[in-house]
Parts: sequence; C-alpha cells; structure tokens
Amino acid sequence: MKIIDTHCDALLKLQMAKRGHPYGMKSLDYQTSEELDTNYQYLQKGGVMVQFFAIFIEPGVPSDEKWQHALEQIDLFYTEVLAQPKMKHIRKWEDFDRLKDDEIGAVLTLEGADAFGNDLVKLRHLYRLGVMSIGLTWNNANLCGDGAGEPRAGGLTLLGKEVVKMNNENRVLTDVSHLPINGFWDVMEHAAYPFASHSNARALCDHVRNLYDDQITAMFDKGGFIHVVFNPPFLNKDGETASITDCLNHIEHLCSLGGVKQIGFGSDFDGISMFVKDLENASHYPNLVNELLKHYSEEEVRGFCHENFLHNRPGAV
Ligand SMILES: [Zn+2]
Repeated sequence: MKIIDTHCDALLKLQMAKRGHPYGMKSLDYQTSEELDTNYQYLQKGGVMVQFFAIFIEPGVPSDEKWQHALEQIDLFYTEVLAQPKMKHIRKWEDFDRLKDDEIGAVLTLEGADAFGNDLVKLRHLYRLGVMSIGLTWNNANLCGDGAGEPRAGGLTLLGKEVVKMNNENRVLTDVSHLPINGFWDVMEHAAYPFASHSNARALCDHVRNLYDDQITAMFDKGGFIHVVFNPPFLNKDGETASITDCLNHIEHLCSLGGVKQIGFGSDFDGISMFVKDLENASHYPNLVNELLKHYSEEEVRGFCHENFLHNRPGAV
C-alpha cells in the first residue's frame, strides 16, 4: 500500500553529518545509510510514495546563522535526496498525479519560521525553491508566534498572520503541529490550508504536541487533515516505548471524531530517538498497514496511507 509521510528530519541529519557532527566525520549516504530512518532503500522497501522533508534549524543556532543552515539543508535536498533518479521533486500539488509507480516523490517543508526571521524576501525564495508546507514555529517562540513548549502559549504575531496569508496566496499548507493552543486557533481562523503534519490526540496522551478533541474536530470541519506521529512520548503515558496498537488507538480516536477521510501518517523519522516497536524506520510501514487491515476496510486503509491526503491537498477537487 503506497504511503504519503508528511514529516521527517533527514535533512537535519544529513546537514549535521556533513558538518562532522554527531554521526561521524563522513557524510551520510542518503541511499543506504542505516543512520537515516528514511533513506532511499527504506522508503522503497516500505512502499513510500511521497516523503516530506522538513527544513529544521535547531533552536541553539544563532539567529544570524539560521538562513545559512536552511540553505545548506535545501542544498542537501537537491544534491543528496534528489540525486537518486527515482526520487522526484514535488513542487506543485499537481505533481502528485505525475508520479510513476516506481518513483518516490519528495516534498520540501519548513518547520519553524526562525529560518527566515522577519525577512519575507527569504520566505518568497523558500516558496520558489519548492517549500509546500510551513509550520510557523518549532517548540520555542520566534517572530511569528509562540511554540508549543512556551509557557506563555501566545497566539500568532502580526508577522505570523502575514505569513499565513502568504501561504494561502501560494497554496502552501500552514502546519499547526508545533503551535500552542492560541496559535492553533489563530491559524484555524486565518489559514485556507491548515494541517497537522505530525500530531496525535491529547485525549489519549496528554502532551503539548498533541491536539485536544475540539481542535481535532475544528480541523476536520475546516477540511484540514491530521497525520499521526510515531514518537512514543506522543503516543502513550509511558512515553519511552510504544506499539503499533498505540498508533491504532490514536487513529481510532481520530476516526471517532469524524476523521476517517482526513487522517494520515507523519512519522517524524530521523527526528525521534525512541521508536514504536516494529515501526523503527520507513521500511517497516507494511507492519503498520497489515495491522490496520485487521481493523479497517481496505478502502479506509488506502485512505490513511495516501488517498485522504490526495483528496484534501490544496486545489484537489
Ligand atoms: Zn516536529
């Protein structure tokens, strides 16, 4: 079953390796390196049809170096990820329909507006380079608003709202996954294409990265979608280990709130250090699919895997 996975952090790993830290002094090989949960071989083996790749700048990077880090990660996307001829850059929503059976699509996304600060020229360049989804913050605050980890938990700034407006004009998704509650509701008010790329249900796991039921139903009502994340701390109270059943519990909860046609997967591979048992990298997707098929119809599972996203993407009819 073909998979669309809306979040991974392979670009950060590739960049850190290139900078000689902490995955050894040599660069990682995107095709095969086992240090990469979403390397090309794993994507192929797991039946991944499209993988989203986030540009993510760690919060400790000084502000005036962040744009350079973003450019390095974009460069690695073009030179390493797209070096494999079967990896196809998806830069328009229509490109999903052009993928051949043996090709894997690669979508560039941004996790945290700190990469461009308040410089909207840089943001426009990100659109031109193919960024199709923007999460305004990571866990900490930036010029667009507070992140999910900020005790202040404020909403979007005027700049944040301007970015959402530009996303709308460019048919770019606005990702709520790292926003606190106030920021979430601001996005729901202003975004034409809201989306949670990697979040779970807070009713089952009370973590700031997850969504309350009223947030979930508001997202579905607005035609947005929510992609379940495989990070154990977002799946259960234990937080260190998790099973595929935990993932199914979140899927079932989202379905019970009306999301059967509006949910999918956003693994967070390469951004997590703890793993769901039997779902430790992208090659293990068939384990999840097989378990889902025991509980849902084939049509519903196909929806979770890719059809729901294809039907809900901007411009889809
Ligand atoms: Zn994240």
